[in-house]
Amino acid sequence: MNDTSRTILLQANGLCKDYPVRQGIIPHTVGSIKAVEDVNFALYKGETLGLVGESGSGKSTVGRLLVGLEAPTAGQVLLNGQPLGLQRPRGRGNQGTRLQMVFQDTFSSLNPRKRVGDILTAPMRYHRLVTPKTAWREACRLLEMVGLPAAAYERYPHEFSGGQRQRIGLARALSLKPELIICDEPVSALDVSIQAQILNLIRDLQQEMGLTYLFIGHGLAAVHYVSHRIAVMYLGRIVEIAPAQALFTMPAHPYTKALCDAAPVADPALRGRERTVLAGEIPSSIQPPTGCQFHPRCPHAQALCARVQPQLLPCASLPPDHLTACHFAEALLGKGREDAV
Ligand code: ATP
Ligand code: SF4
Repeated sequence: MNDTSRTILLQANGLCKDYPVRQGIIPHTVGSIKAVEDVNFALYKGETLGLVGESGSGKSTVGRLLVGLEAPTAGQVLLNGQPLGLQRPRGRGNQGTRLQMVFQDTFSSLNPRKRVGDILTAPMRYHRLVTPKTAWREACRLLEMVGLPAAAYERYPHEFSGGQRQRIGLARALSLKPELIICDEPVSALDVSIQAQILNLIRDLQQEMGLTYLFIGHGLAAVHYVSHRIAVMYLGRIVEIAPAQALFTMPAHPYTKALCDAAPVADPALRGRERTVLAGEIPSSIQPPTGCQFHPRCPHAQALCARVQPQLLPCASLPPDHLTACHFAEALLGKGREDAV
C-alpha cells in the first residue's frame, strides 16, 4: 500500500522542545537544551511507526509531546486533521483519551498503593466510560485481552513480574479505547524471552483492534519486529524515515547504517559484511554541532557537512517514502551498491 492510499491519523508539524538550562545561586537561564528540533512525520491509521536513536536523541520527548505530558516550544500536532490542544491531557477533553502511553518503568507508572482493578477502572470512571456496576466486568475483559486472569483485579502491582506489569500497563492504556498508543521502550527492562511475549501481544492487539502505535525503542531488532515504518532520530531531529524492511536493507544515512550494523544479525552470511562502528558520544544538545549534527562522528563528512543542515528528503534512487537527511546519501548508496557487487 502506498502512502497516498492510507488515512493519516496523526501529523506532527515542526515540533520543537527546548528545556531551559538554569544556573547560579539565584537560578537564571543560561541556555537551552534542544531536545526536539523541527520534527515532522505522519502516522497512518493501523500502522506502527518505530522511533529509534541513541539515548538522549529526543525519542521520549516526542512521545511526551504527543500525549500532552509536555507542551512544545513550537509546532503543531493534528489528530484526524484537527489541531490537538497543546496543553496537559485534562485540557484536551475527549482528545486526551484518544492517545495513551505505555511506559518502560512499570514500577513508577503503576501506583503501588492501588489494586490492579482500581488502576484499570479509575480512568474509565473519570471519563464516564463505565458505571460502578459495569467497571468490574470491563476490567476483567481488559485483563483477559492482555493475557492475565481475572484474579489479578484484587492484587497489587508489586505482586507481578515485570512482563505481567507491562501487560497491566497495556490494559490501562486500552481501557480508554484509544486510537493511538505510544509505547515508550515497553520491553527494554524485560528479559529477552518476555520481550518476545510482550512484542507479540502488542502486534496481536493491533490486529484485533486496529490500533495505531508509535513504538519508541533503543534496539533496532525489537523496533523492526513490530514496526511497519521506522524513523531514526539523532540529536533531536529525524535523520531517516522509511518502511522498516527498506531501512534495514538499504539504510541511506550513515547514522542509520551504524545502528543497523550494531544490531544482532541471525543470518551467518551477513555476519562478515563491512560494518560502520560509531565513535564517540552523542554531542551535547545545549550546543549542537553546526550543519549536519552528525558530522563530528560521520566517517563520510566533508566540508559542506559542517556548514549546511541537510533537509529530510527522498533520494532519487529510492522509493519516495524513503526520506533521509544527508547531503551525500545518493553517492553513498551508489558506493554501497558497488561494494556489494
Ligand atoms: P532515552 O532513550 O535515554 O530515554 P531519549 O532519546 O528518549 O533518551 P529524551 O529523554 O527525549 O531522549 O531526552 C532528550 C534530551 O532532552 C536529553 O538531552 C535530555 O537530557 C533532555 N531532557 C529530557 N527531559 C528533560 C527535562 N525534563 N528537563 C531538561 N532536559 C530534559
Ligand atoms: Fe555524514 Fe555529511 Fe551525510 Fe551528515 S551530511 S551524514 S556528515 S555525509
